[in-house]
Amino acid sequence: MKCPYCDNEMKLGYIQCRDGVQWTLKKQLVAALSVFGKECTSLANGAADNSNVVYAYKCDSCKKVIIDYSNREV
Ligand SMILES: [Zn+2]
Repeated sequence: MKCPYCDNEMKLGYIQCRDGVQWTLKKQLVAALSVFGKECTSLANGAADNSNVVYAYKCDSCKKVIIDYSNREV
């Protein structure tokens, strides 16, 4: 995948979190993550059977990480 900022090739890797990787509108205590509101989006995209590991592309040049959570084959 090409970086949309600088057009360099991005590296595919993983982001992992024991309690799952989510985007939330508001900062939450990790212990409270089980109480998800509707402003919580699981970023699970097929890297594992659970949401604890997600695929992520990293650009070394401009220090960006992109997570596509559409769950398609990478
Ligand atoms: Zn870049």
